[in-house]
Amino acid sequence: MTAEAPQREATTAEATAGSASPDLLPTATGRRAARVVGRYARDSRGVAVTAAVVSVASAAAGLIAPAVLGRLVDAVTDGGAVGGYLLALAGAAVLAAVLVGLSAVAISRLGEALLARLREAVVARVLHLHTATLDRVRPGDLLSRVGDDVARVSESVTTGLPEVIGAVLAVLLTLLGLGVLDGRLALAGLLALPAYGLALRWYLPRSGPVYARERRAVGDRADALLGAVQGADTIRAHARSAPHAAEVARRSAAARDVGVGVFRLYTDFGWRMNRSEYLGLAAVLAVGFLLARSGAATVGEVTTAALLFHRLFAPLGTLLFSFDEVQAAGAALVRLVGVVDLPDAAVVPQRPAAGSRPAVELRGIGHRYGDGPAVLADVDLRLAPGERVALVGASGAGKTTLAAVLAGAVDPSVGEVLVDGVPARALPGRGLRDQVALVSQEVHVFAGTLADDLRLARPGATDDEVRAALELVGARWVAALPDGTATRVGEGGTALTPAGAQQLALARLVLADPPVAVLDEATAEAGSTGARDLEEAAFAATAGRTTLVVAHRLTQAVRADRVVVLDAGRVVEEGTHADLVAAGGRYAALWAAWRGR
Ligand code: ADP
Ligand code: MG
Repeated sequence: MTAEAPQREATTAEATAGSASPDLLPTATGRRAARVVGRYARDSRGVAVTAAVVSVASAAAGLIAPAVLGRLVDAVTDGGAVGGYLLALAGAAVLAAVLVGLSAVAISRLGEALLARLREAVVARVLHLHTATLDRVRPGDLLSRVGDDVARVSESVTTGLPEVIGAVLAVLLTLLGLGVLDGRLALAGLLALPAYGLALRWYLPRSGPVYARERRAVGDRADALLGAVQGADTIRAHARSAPHAAEVARRSAAARDVGVGVFRLYTDFGWRMNRSEYLGLAAVLAVGFLLARSGAATVGEVTTAALLFHRLFAPLGTLLFSFDEVQAAGAALVRLVGVVDLPDAAVVPQRPAAGSRPAVELRGIGHRYGDGPAVLADVDLRLAPGERVALVGASGAGKTTLAAVLAGAVDPSVGEVLVDGVPARALPGRGLRDQVALVSQEVHVFAGTLADDLRLARPGATDDEVRAALELVGARWVAALPDGTATRVGEGGTALTPAGAQQLALARLVLADPPVAVLDEATAEAGSTGARDLEEAAFAATAGRTTLVVAHRLTQAVRADRVVVLDAGRVVEEGTHADLVAAGGRYAALWAAWRGR
């Protein structure tokens, strides 16, 4: 895919409020997460409005029973008939039950719609990460985001969200009903507020950090487990099982302790809640007693008030207790939005001046992955402005690694990359990644329209620009699609051939318009007929750019200005195709083999 590059946090200032370790993916701010969810909600306006209407009706229906019961008490006190009230009670119960069910369905549907959008966005971004980035971020962090965090958010969407919204509305409407019924009784109930306030003031500062710690502890545990499982052979070979097992045990214990702490917090909060309810209800009954005795209110009215007040307990409890769920879901949500907001690798935000074709120099490059063997050694290579260099070599020679170094997707262990003489780390903006686009072998097509897919590379691209890019890479098949560039591709849409997906990647490169292009095996995937077309497409897409192309078909080397042969991480031959063939060395042998296929 086009111009993938490693993503580190703090590259988009607003979206990423720094996370502690440089190897963790970024986390979004709460405000940013709310904005993203709000945008999704606007896209599902119909569902959102239905959910709101049904929920309000459902909360209002809950007020009927206490009102009827109050009347019933007065009727009994006065010795009147009660049959009508009993019927009304039954009707109110049925109506409330139906509406509660409907509102739960409506809210869940809205939640699912939002969740689907979020999940899609997260997956699209994760697929977007370059393998080099995936190597660098902690796998446990990434896994716990696409696994635990998505599960946490979807769980609260399906179970918690309807309850929370229902509870908010029930509390608001009940308070309103209480106020309309009798202001003095409502005021008495308000006496509970300070107690609730104290309970929250005790709870809130404690719960946020505890839940964040719980998430982290779970991520750490996943990390240790994965590390041990992935490295199992090495660990056993070096008889290092015991320390690794101990580390897994230590992190599991830490996760367990945090979990127990969460539960303790929860029960402590519970009794503080009960105390508040007791205070409020006692105040309502005491004031009600005084009012009824002095004739300022009927017994029925006081009954209704007490019932209404009592009706607050369940939803208030739901709300206060779901603070934990809401907070945990919130913590998961900001981590997910953090992933969604990873800067678009394909975008070149700080474009170098149009038409600038820099010289690129690899100086003294050496690289090893982790503690592994040297994959590159002493590589010195200069690409003149606009020059096309083909990189040739056996599998495992280090071509992909060198391409990734040039694209800024891998930081070499030693040596540096210079653009027009400026070292990569001194370049403005995102450094190399603003200058160099990488089309790698793994090409992804994202769910959405074909035009959306291409606009990943340049969000503002006009329809004409999109069409021109497709034409340049010879994607004539687009015109034959039912809806042209508005055809949905990717998952659930029209399936593209591997060659078609490669052409899209090249069209994205054209739109991103980087001064330097690196093609790694971009034409290797297709069958022999398609391969010729793709070769043309790659040639056209990189024309005029300073280009490094990893040549699997040697015809690509023939058309390059210069050929560089890599063997076991070292440059062993360098020159034009003609020179190298004449020299009769390794390239000449490769060429003879290729021609003799
Ligand atoms: P080529 O593209 O020429 O086949 P690569 O650059 O992909 O070569 O690989 C060079 C060497 O580096 C190989 O031995 C390969 O196993 C190793 N290698 C490549 N990527 C990684 C990685 N992410 N981690 C560890 N070793 C790697
Ligand atoms: Mg390779």
